[in-house]
Amino acid sequence: MEFPKINLHSHTSFSDGKNSIKKIVLKSLKLGLKHIAITDHFTNSWKANLILTLNSEEKIDMYLSEITECQKYIKININDFCLYKGIEIDVGSSATFIKRLIRPEKFDIILFEYLETPEGIAFVKNIIEYWKKSIFPNKTLPLLGLAHFDPSNFAYGGLDILIDFLKEHKIYFEFNSRYPEYYSRRNELFFKKLKEYEIMVAIGSDAHSLRQLANISEPLERIKDYELQGNLGILIEHLRHY
Ligand SMILES: [Zn+2]
Repeated sequence: MEFPKINLHSHTSFSDGKNSIKKIVLKSLKLGLKHIAITDHFTNSWKANLILTLNSEEKIDMYLSEITECQKYIKININDFCLYKGIEIDVGSSATFIKRLIRPEKFDIILFEYLETPEGIAFVKNIIEYWKKSIFPNKTLPLLGLAHFDPSNFAYGGLDILIDFLKEHKIYFEFNSRYPEYYSRRNELFFKKLKEYEIMVAIGSDAHSLRQLANISEPLERIKDYELQGNLGILIEHLRHY
């Protein structure tokens, strides 16, 4: 099976990335990528003191309208290339902060980072339930994913809770080339379950520079090793609906 080149995790100067949205898009085109998501940081945890983050309505609006401008240009001028509006939410942020500022219907992809405990799962569930209630009728939630998620945190208890959670809310697992240790063989049981329960998988390089946008071949190799091509196929099928 041949897959289009995808990279669903990148950062721009709206958070801790080096480049503008426009530069990321131009470089992605040069690299022959077909699906690219901009996923800048959203946090009010300790991390907010260290990096720029999309921490106000004004900033989020500016960010989204810049992506919209690029999308318009792409629609008219380029075939066969999709740019997605994403955001990466730190689950160490407060629930009120997330609920107040994130309107899920404005995004195509929402990533959660630092999900490490069953309490974290309960936290994210609560947010998703809130979004489902608050979203406009006839709108659906964006694609949800776990950024650089370490399955070994759930290896000794909690694995079934985790898998149920991913299945129920259609949350994907990201093969993130910056953190290859998270998809090492020690997590084999987790990957077997992903296959068994047809949980989607994606590829993201967590690019903070233009050079890092190209780092997508190693994750694809590991997806093949774990025979998760079908799971990637389900994700790509979902992307076609955006
Ligand atoms: Zn990231």
